[in-house]
Amino acid sequence: MKVNEGAMVLEAGSSKKNKTGSWRTFKPVVTEKCVGCGTCVNFCPEGVIKIENKKAKIDYDYCKGCLICMNVCPFKAIEKVKE
Ligand code: SF4
Ligand code: SF4
Repeated sequence: MKVNEGAMVLEAGSSKKNKTGSWRTFKPVVTEKCVGCGTCVNFCPEGVIKIENKKAKIDYDYCKGCLICMNVCPFKAIEKVKE
């Protein structure tokens, strides 16, 4: 029986090529309540949030939808949306 390959890193230096955003069930969406405090940037385990124009910006190509950012935001500025 052939076992399908899944979530495997098959070569070194391939993290940019493997767009892991497709793993998401829920997508974190930054709302107008964001004040750009940067808390979510510090907690995102994937390092895919940056602050641009005083607002959090998420790179959805690599965000895995863990929603840690939503849970740590002191301003409740991130909402979850079903993919
Ligand atoms: S933690 Fe909340 S308010 Fe702070 S930058 Fe992130 S989304 Fe914006
Ligand atoms: S859902 Fe998880 S991976 Fe995506 S931006 Fe938030 S903390 Fe980062």
